[in-house]
Amino acid sequence: MLSTATKAIRLIMHLRKMGISDTDVLSAIERVPRDLFVPEDQKDQAWEDIALPIGRGQTISQPYVVATMTQALELNDMDKVLEIGTGCGYQAAILARVARRVYTIERHKPLLEDSEKRFNELNIRNITAICADGMQGWPKMNGMEQAPFDKIIVTAAARGKPPEALLDQLKPGGIMVIPVGEPGNQMLKRYERFSDDTWSVSDICPVRFVPLLPDIASDREAVA
Ligand code: SAH
Repeated sequence: MLSTATKAIRLIMHLRKMGISDTDVLSAIERVPRDLFVPEDQKDQAWEDIALPIGRGQTISQPYVVATMTQALELNDMDKVLEIGTGCGYQAAILARVARRVYTIERHKPLLEDSEKRFNELNIRNITAICADGMQGWPKMNGMEQAPFDKIIVTAAARGKPPEALLDQLKPGGIMVIPVGEPGNQMLKRYERFSDDTWSVSDICPVRFVPLLPDIASDREAVA
């Protein structure tokens, strides 16, 4: 049996070979214990470069995709980041090591609660997580506005284009990374905002994500 440290280094070497070069991103992936984010019966595969089921029909992304998306955000330690689709919280934990502050939204309450437990266990203090419809952007709470954000990452696929509310919440000078397209034909896209109404859009790579869905998930949907 390989030790966790050996498995982690093996994964980092693999990601380097695949073209991930941002050392902050690589070191975050090496340090965040992915085995804590996956179900008990998947733990022996936690350091493999594969997506894994996390319950409620959702998945934790493949490390290569997490690394590619995080690298594309060009993060620095001053950045305030919005994530849509907390899932098991793994991507948020990676972001939290590279950015100043992470705001993350999940529509399945039980997934969100489990993620918050993990953040506490790992003593991660710069993530704020809520259960809401992320397609609406980060809500104003107690009169406090967090938008606009330096960077936005969406970890579920938008059908045609990014939700308007998310485009609105990106700062001029900011970057959004989001999978766009129908199931089976999705492209990871990078939107850069230069000013209020000037943008550039580029393709990063084909990906496979669960769809971005509206509203908070009902209990019935969660069981289905
Ligand atoms: N980033 C996650 C993986 C996300 S899987 C991780 O590291 O584990 C995609 C997640 O997006 C799912 O949990 C799904 O419930 C959530 N999701 C889909 N549509 C959403 C929406 N409108 N608002 C918030 N979360 C959403």
